[in-house]
Amino acid sequence: MPVIKNEYQGRKPDEFRILLGLEGHPDSRNIKTYIEKSNGYKALEKVLKGGMSSEDVINTVKASGLRGRGGAGFPTGLKWSFVPKGPGEKYLITNFDEGEPGTYKDCYISEVTPHSLVEGKIIASYAIGAQKSYIYIRGEFYNEIKWCEKAIQEAYDAGYLGENIMSSGFTHHMDVYSGAGAYICGEETGLISSLEGKKGQPKLKPPFPAVKGYLGKPTVVNNVESLAVVPWIINNGPEAYKKFGTEKSPGTKLFNVSGPIARPGCYELPLGYPLMRFLNEDCGGLLDGKKLKAVIPGGSSAPILTAKECENVTLDYESIAAAGSMLGSGAIIVIPEGVGMPSVLENLMDFYSHESCGQCTPCREGTGWLYKMSKHILKGNATKADFNRINTVANNMRGKTICVLSDAAADPARAIIAKYAHEFEPYLKG
Ligand code: NAD
Ligand code: SF4
Repeated sequence: MPVIKNEYQGRKPDEFRILLGLEGHPDSRNIKTYIEKSNGYKALEKVLKGGMSSEDVINTVKASGLRGRGGAGFPTGLKWSFVPKGPGEKYLITNFDEGEPGTYKDCYISEVTPHSLVEGKIIASYAIGAQKSYIYIRGEFYNEIKWCEKAIQEAYDAGYLGENIMSSGFTHHMDVYSGAGAYICGEETGLISSLEGKKGQPKLKPPFPAVKGYLGKPTVVNNVESLAVVPWIINNGPEAYKKFGTEKSPGTKLFNVSGPIARPGCYELPLGYPLMRFLNEDCGGLLDGKKLKAVIPGGSSAPILTAKECENVTLDYESIAAAGSMLGSGAIIVIPEGVGMPSVLENLMDFYSHESCGQCTPCREGTGWLYKMSKHILKGNATKADFNRINTVANNMRGKTICVLSDAAADPARAIIAKYAHEFEPYLKG
C-alpha cells in the first residue's frame, strides 16, 4: 500500500494543477492565453534555445518517472529511448482515439488546453528526432478535431511549427488524422495500420512500433495526456513533478468519474489519492443517498471492485493492482446498489463482441459467446452449466491473442461472475 503524502490531507483536487491550470478561463484554447497565463511554449524555447540535447530531454522525462497515461503505464522516457538514434525517418503519433468506456480525459485536455498537447508533441518529436507527427483522433470527436487543428495552425503562425523552428535547425510538421470510431484503432498497431490507410487491425508485437512502426519506420505512439504534461516537466524539472504522487506512480493524473454521483466529471489528482475520499468528498457521494455497490476503476477493461475492496484503495498503479484490478485510463465507473450484475456483464460483453476485430479465434468467438451467454442468462434460458462455461470460455481467451482486447473482455467477465455469482442464480434454470 503506497504511503499517502501528508500534504494531501485536507487539500482539494483544485490545488493539484499541472495540466488543468487553464480550466475555467474563457479563452483557454487560444495560443495567446496559453503563452500569457500558462508559460506557453517556454519549455520548447528552453529545449531548442537553451541547448538541451535530445538525450537531455529524454533523461529529464525518464527522471520524472512519467508513466504512459493511455492505460498501460509504460514509462514514457524509456519508450522514447528505444527509438534508434541517428538519421532516418521517425514518427510521433498521438493516440487520441480514446475509446475506453467511461474515458473522456483526452477530450477534456483538447477542450481546456490543446496547446499543451501541441507543445508536448513538438518537444517529444525533437527528443526522438521525428520531423513529422500526427494526432490520430476518433472521427466522432468533431469539436476536438477542430480544437486540435486550430491549435496546430496557431502554432504554425507563431513559428513554433514548420521549418527551422526558432532558428534552432529543428524542423517539425504536424497533422490531424481522424479515424472512424473503431475501438480497436486505439490499439497502437491497429492505429498505425489505420493511419497507413489499411484495415485497422492489430499486429503481433515485437517488433514494437519504436523500432518498426508507421510505414515501417521507428514510431512512438503516446497518449494525449502523456504528451500534454511534458512542457510542465521541462519547465519545472523532474523533482518538482515527483513531489506529486507516490514513489512508483509519480505526478498527477486525470480521472473521469461517471455514474449516479453528485459531481461527475474530469478531475486532476495526484496519484495515490484515496479512492473513497475522492468519491465521497470531492465528487459529493452517490445521488439520492444511494449506497455504493461496486466500482470499475480504470475503464471497462479493468476488473470490477466491490465496495468493500475499494475501502483502502488509493488511485495509483500499484494500489489498484494489489486490489486485483488496474488503473488503466483512469475512468472510474460508479455502480450503485440496485444495479444487477447480470446486466452489467451483458452490457460489457455486448461492447467487446462488437469491437473485436475478428482476427483471433479466441477473441472473435470468445467475446461472441460471452455476450450470447450473458443474454441467455438475463432471459432465464441458461442453466448452471452454462453459467460455469463463462469461466471456461474466459480462461481460454487469455494470453492467446494478437492484442489485449481478448483479455480485456475476459478479465472483467471472470471478476463479475466470481464476485457476484449469487446474483446470477435466480436467473438460472433448475
Ligand atoms: P502494452 O503494455 O503492450 O504497451 C504499452 C506501450 O509500451 C506500447 O506503446 C508499447 O509499444 C510499449 N512497449 C512495451 N514494451 C516495449 C518494449 N519492450 N520495447 C518497446 N516498446 C515497448 O499495452 P497496450 O496494448 O499498448 O495498451 C493496453 C492498455 O490500453 C490497457 O491497459 C487499456 O487500459 C488501455 N486502453 C486505453 C484506451 C483509452 O481510451 N485510453 C482504450 C483501450 C485500451
Ligand atoms: Fe482482433 Fe481480438 Fe485478436 Fe485483438 S485479440 S487482434 S481485437 S481478434
